[in-house]
Amino acid sequence: MTPQHEDRSGEAWRAELAAALNALPTAEFLDVMRQVLPVQAANDADPAFRNVLMLVEVSTDPDDGDVEQRVVAWPDRVHYGGGLGTYQGLCEEGTCAGCGRTVTSNAKRAVCPLCGTNCRLT
Ligand SMILES: [Zn+2]
Repeated sequence: MTPQHEDRSGEAWRAELAAALNALPTAEFLDVMRQVLPVQAANDADPAFRNVLMLVEVSTDPDDGDVEQRVVAWPDRVHYGGGLGTYQGLCEEGTCAGCGRTVTSNAKRAVCPLCGTNCRLT
């Protein structure tokens, strides 16, 4: 399903766009978000701050209520020669050497959206 409505501000068009995004494999969804979220953040930016709009995966342990947060890193297209790494869910994880945050991605080689560091995940 490709959004092709003439009126691109309407609810029907947004629903089609959401359906198209939901149909993407994780690797492709993350690559689209890599192209969208920084632009949206720049549009809303307060010049007094460096704002980053990014995805965060949050897991809650049902037994003890512990909450874990992982920054979702973009597949490293340079490393993969324009590709997106392995087509799988957010199965790779590690610590970003640049900002120290826990990151996750579909790809073993990913770029932290917060600091831009190339991460090696396992
Ligand atoms: Zn980082």
